[in-house]
Amino acid sequence: MINSLGENNNFVQYCKPVFTSQTQNTVAAKTNEQTSPRETTNLIMQYLENQARNNVSSTYNVSTPIWTHAFGNCDNMKVLDSSGNLVQNVEFKKDGDKLTEEIFVKCVNGSTVNKTIVNDGNKKSMTLTFKNKKGEITGRENRTYEKLDKDNAISVHNGKTYKISGLSGDIITVEYNGQKKVIDLGKKIQPTLDTIENKPTNKQISQTQKEFLLNSVKKLSGDLILKFDEEIDQMVMLDTDEYEGFYRNDNGVRKFKLSQKVRDDMTFCHELGHAINRIDSEGDNENKVRISDNKDYAKTREIEMNNFRNRCKNDDIIKPMNKFIYDDFIKKGYMSYEEGQKDGQDEEFAEMTGFINCMDVDWINNRVTCMLQFMPYSTQIIYKKNQELF
Ligand SMILES: [Zn+2]
Repeated sequence: MINSLGENNNFVQYCKPVFTSQTQNTVAAKTNEQTSPRETTNLIMQYLENQARNNVSSTYNVSTPIWTHAFGNCDNMKVLDSSGNLVQNVEFKKDGDKLTEEIFVKCVNGSTVNKTIVNDGNKKSMTLTFKNKKGEITGRENRTYEKLDKDNAISVHNGKTYKISGLSGDIITVEYNGQKKVIDLGKKIQPTLDTIENKPTNKQISQTQKEFLLNSVKKLSGDLILKFDEEIDQMVMLDTDEYEGFYRNDNGVRKFKLSQKVRDDMTFCHELGHAINRIDSEGDNENKVRISDNKDYAKTREIEMNNFRNRCKNDDIIKPMNKFIYDDFIKKGYMSYEEGQKDGQDEEFAEMTGFINCMDVDWINNRVTCMLQFMPYSTQIIYKKNQELF
């Protein structure tokens, strides 16, 4: 298979579970690679047997993250295994205007993740490569973005080109494959602020706050802007700097809420991930229906989480993983473990969607690299789903 870089790659899919059509998801139903529940169960059994055969506990016995300052708000990070091998590595470099971020993760099943982001003035690029433990490529994402002038930008994702125009105003156009989509971003801005508890206030949005929200969309790649337009009805400024952002479906109005402290597209794409995950046509506020409710995904996560709970004893690693594992579900206000898990599944879906698509060189939260290291099978399920969505 020839990829967008013209390289001849041998794509090997080592993990093939896909979301079945039980969620009535039209996107999932389109896939031509349906895996039967039995096949998926076999994969899980194979995984369990492999885990039992090899003494893998050592890969969970990792050091506390070692942070060193790079520049601005960017800090390098290293995590070593018990033999001193790098298992998580994040390195930032600055050369004039050119900023580079390199992320490497060696996962507990021997697979690896490499991501390089380069931001150079008006140009951004990203390469993400997943390899199995034999070193064969199992997935690759390429993104480039260039701001051509104050009105125009061009982005390419895995060989697909998107032209974006109208960037100096509130109405922008994304052109892809001969089709133009005109998006009135100004119309999507809620005129008043909301509290962190999702309550309305009488405070009017300021011009600066409005510009901030508009720019957080305008700086994205064309496919992400189209996805945003498809998934979001209203953008809301939060009346706080305490939290970063939220996605809420308020009685059918799909709201994307951001605080002014959010600068990076990782947070933006994480919240967009929550929006994508929610199946709008089903359920209501009390009974959310999400892609991540998928039983095979939940089962795979459960195995990975149990291995992690039994084998990792380092509190500095356990703490960031709680974003996805939800062992503190009572503290978080859930009535049961099962209820908490639904949101844990959603958080992993959102974080992986953010990681796959973000291309800003900015500070990294080590919960991302921990998730990649200890949850390689369930994160791959989300990656495969993302390949259908973008
Ligand atoms: Zn979230």
